[in-house]
Amino acid sequence: MINSICVFCGSSAGSKPEYITAAEAMGRELARRGLTLVYGGGNVGTMGALARATLAAGGKVTGVIPQKLYEKVDHVELTELIVSSGMHERKARMAEASDAFIALPGGIGTFEELFEAWAWRQIGFHSKPVGLLEVAGFYAPLLGFLAHVAEEGFLRVSHLKDLVVDEDPCRLIDRLISAPPPLEPKLPERKNG
Ligand code: AMP
Repeated sequence: MINSICVFCGSSAGSKPEYITAAEAMGRELARRGLTLVYGGGNVGTMGALARATLAAGGKVTGVIPQKLYEKVDHVELTELIVSSGMHERKARMAEASDAFIALPGGIGTFEELFEAWAWRQIGFHSKPVGLLEVAGFYAPLLGFLAHVAEEGFLRVSHLKDLVVDEDPCRLIDRLISAPPPLEPKLPERKNG
């Protein structure tokens, strides 16, 4: 059962208006479904747009922000704000509070969070579904590279397909809700003897 979704996205707004528009659409969709948004707690970039849109549509938002960032950045009044000691604790708290993960367009912080959630599902450390919201072709180069990674034998095609990709927030959430359980974990083969 999915009650809350962790959304990773940018601390920047990006160069196209579509990025902010998509973050706002995601926020409204979470609120419409009564799903709690769990995110990085900032009021900047697509993160801020997402949180403000969720709250404006009557949704619940839990922000998780490390103390060091909390002291330096602007805040928006959230339903709940958790201040963590550092980045590791932040990600752990975000994961504990969520039933699924979504990445919107973002930068290296977003990728790091997405890849951790996806990689940990791949090895069976959790069973929460992971999705990508594709906006204006932003993720096409990365998806192309991931296909190359699979071709080169470093990623199973089945695990690549396990990442749910959609351009529509409503359909993406529907697909995460109905996602099958994780595949056979990718674990190193045991050596005989
Ligand atoms: P990026 O995708 O590179 O923009 O990174 C997103 C990440 O930026 C977030 O998860 C945070 O770790 C970090 N971050 C940067 N600025 C802020 C801010 N003002 N509030 C919260 N998180 C921030």
